[in-house]
Amino acid sequence: MTPYLDCNATTPVEPRVRDLVIRYMETEFGNAGSRTHDFGARAKQASQKARDQVAALVGAKRDEVVFTSGATEANNLAILGLAEYGRREQRRHIISTAIEHKSVLEPLERLGRGGFDVTLVPPEVGGWVSPEKIASTLRPDTLLVSIMHVNNETGVVQPLTEIAQRLVGHPTFLHVDAAQGCGKDLVALREQRLDLVSISGHKLYAPKGVGALVARRRGFERVPLEPLMVGGGQERGLRPGTLPVHLVVGLGLACEIAWQEESSRSKRNRELLDAALAAFAELHPRINGDRLRCLPHVLNLSFPGIDSEAIMVAWKGLAAVSNGAACTSQSYTLSHVLKAMGVGDDDARGAVRISWCHLTGDVEWQAMADAVRQLM
Ligand code: PMP
Repeated sequence: MTPYLDCNATTPVEPRVRDLVIRYMETEFGNAGSRTHDFGARAKQASQKARDQVAALVGAKRDEVVFTSGATEANNLAILGLAEYGRREQRRHIISTAIEHKSVLEPLERLGRGGFDVTLVPPEVGGWVSPEKIASTLRPDTLLVSIMHVNNETGVVQPLTEIAQRLVGHPTFLHVDAAQGCGKDLVALREQRLDLVSISGHKLYAPKGVGALVARRRGFERVPLEPLMVGGGQERGLRPGTLPVHLVVGLGLACEIAWQEESSRSKRNRELLDAALAAFAELHPRINGDRLRCLPHVLNLSFPGIDSEAIMVAWKGLAAVSNGAACTSQSYTLSHVLKAMGVGDDDARGAVRISWCHLTGDVEWQAMADAVRQLM
């Protein structure tokens, strides 16, 4: 089988997580809301343990975790869920960045059409957003600052701690889309100034279809979120619907393992990174994103004059990767992230994103480099 090098799109499921998910589908399939028998009690107990495991990863409390279907839903709940409060309090200014995922940008566009003023801060050429620039756009009526943790296209880690420090004393809520960084860059998400943190299971070796929004209390005050759906009252009313216990326990275990095995995982990722960089070096690729700020499992490269489509054809059978561009069936759109970083159209058109993980086996980096050389 072609080696899978697209772990930023989705990761393989960790085998211990898979086994637990199957157990909660096959034998422990109770509804966590059932109060009349042990199946329900055990399901509830298991989901509470999962809540603790997710909370522990980001330094939060059990009752601050809202399970969702993934980071898209968590981002929507964080952003759209605050709108009512913003309208009520006459705080209609939101700050975010030009390199966010669509699941942040599109809810923001919706609020922009609904009377909110949205400032999108551009990144520096290295793909990170300057804390000073964020701070300089703050206004008395800023309701929310929404910043991603790690960029999905470049792997660049955003300076969250510095941004959080710049917000001390301002009432704005701070939301972090941590889909790509949660469980990988462990320390940053424990910062208590991060009010809202979005998590995705399938970027963390858990299955697709589960994630969480962590909504931290400030003292006794909860973030004044309104639910996007109603009916059922689960998750303290913020996310009604029967809890998918099998997915939730999978996410919980994935969070615990991420915490325990972070150093061995990042060591393996660095070995793969070093091998990749050594193999590609003599082709002099452009590396998109400041390498010193990138996580060690992502490499976004452009080779001078070569289109990413041609590279992906040349790598058929060698590596399953993606191009940094979002495509529709009709046309390719150049990556909004690379464009915002000032990458020229040719380089953006040629960008390939290679992303691996600790479960990645041997990779034929040299054969991949040779295939690109043939195109030069
Ligand atoms: N944010 C980022 C940065 C992502 O990379 C993704 C997944 N591509 C999402 C949000 C959405 O996550 P999910 O697939 O869990 O909805």
